[in-house]
Amino acid sequence: MADLSDDATWRTIRAEFPILDQTLRTGKKLVYLDTAATAQKPNRVVDCIRQCYERDNSNVHRGIHELGDRMTTLLEDAREQVRELLGAREVEEIVFTSGTTMSLNLVAHGWGRKFLRAGDVVLLNEMEHHANLVPWYEAAKATGAEIRHIPLTTDGRLDMDQLDTVLDRQVKLVAVTAMSNVLGTINPVAELARRAHDVGALIAVDGAQSVPHGMTDVTRDQIDFLAFSGHKFYGPTGVGVLYGRRELLEAMDPFLFGGHMIREVTRDSATWADLPAKFEAGTGPFIQAAGLGAAIAYIKQIGMEPIMAYEHELARYAGERLAEVPELTILGPAWPDRGAIFSFVVEGVHPHDLSDLLDRQGVAIRAGHHCTMPLHDRLGLAASARASLAFYNNREEVDSLVEAILAARRVFRR
Ligand code: PLP
Repeated sequence: MADLSDDATWRTIRAEFPILDQTLRTGKKLVYLDTAATAQKPNRVVDCIRQCYERDNSNVHRGIHELGDRMTTLLEDAREQVRELLGAREVEEIVFTSGTTMSLNLVAHGWGRKFLRAGDVVLLNEMEHHANLVPWYEAAKATGAEIRHIPLTTDGRLDMDQLDTVLDRQVKLVAVTAMSNVLGTINPVAELARRAHDVGALIAVDGAQSVPHGMTDVTRDQIDFLAFSGHKFYGPTGVGVLYGRRELLEAMDPFLFGGHMIREVTRDSATWADLPAKFEAGTGPFIQAAGLGAAIAYIKQIGMEPIMAYEHELARYAGERLAEVPELTILGPAWPDRGAIFSFVVEGVHPHDLSDLLDRQGVAIRAGHHCTMPLHDRLGLAASARASLAFYNNREEVDSLVEAILAARRVFRR
């Protein structure tokens, strides 16, 4: 366990991310505040991938030779790392996909299209990322099920006082993000799981933003499905995870068909392999999965708890500093019910212009609807600016963000 509040320790950790130590074409030092879009990768992950390609690369579960064995071991070790990270009971409940989007599509196809019926309800809410909305719209269209929404409060939380008005026995699944990628809201997934189960519904959790910040345990929180992306967890792109309870995964239909996912194929039919292979058709992202395993091992070595404590404190500081900027409105709930994601608008400055001006100061943020059009519609905004933090950021970088926003305001007030 590392003490990230100790400056020397923090600097040692920061040095593991060489990409962060660079001067941009503007001559400014990079301040990377776009982790919610994709996290940077520590040397450990890059080394793992390089070593895989230099030493171990071979297709998995097939080659009866040493390289094939080694790569298969790396892949299956990574699966065990994910199981432990999520607190899942069995390694067979961990399916490697290409990312959160594919994991949620897999549930919407494999479970939704098989088990939803006309008159059933899928319960969503307006703060979801498109990846946890559109697959359900399509599943509902295909089955005749309906979409309902949990109302939001004006400060951007799920209105739990109104949950009973929308959560009844018609609801077959609640699909919810554990942490909003725009509002930073941390949703009460354990309570939602309990309330969903009380009416016989399942819960599918989008963990894209929460899992990298240590908030989810599928057994403790009684979660049925959970999705996250490797690239937001300091791992490579191209790999993601679907956790599903064994009975559910066994009852579901595969989403993709082809090699590896079969038990037996005849001239005109096929049967499916056991979990998790049933959902891993074709050659999967095995090197990326090994890289994700390295990322999890790295985070474990620092300790998720110190990371959470450091990010919590940094987010508090960022919230305070941003609140000092005149005419800046932070979207979402007040401290402490939020993670280290700050979407905001500055009166009179378009978010795209703001991010452009910040880029000239070396500060990398994101502007747009962040794949949450229904949320932005509700807020009456076409776009917002978003700064997102990780344990490799520090207060100085938050100060740079605030100074850059103040400078941008001056440009627009001339
Ligand atoms: N869900 C949330 C909350 C996200 O923030 C994102 C990505 O930004 C996704 C889903 C989609 O993740 P991916 O593009 O890695 O599939």
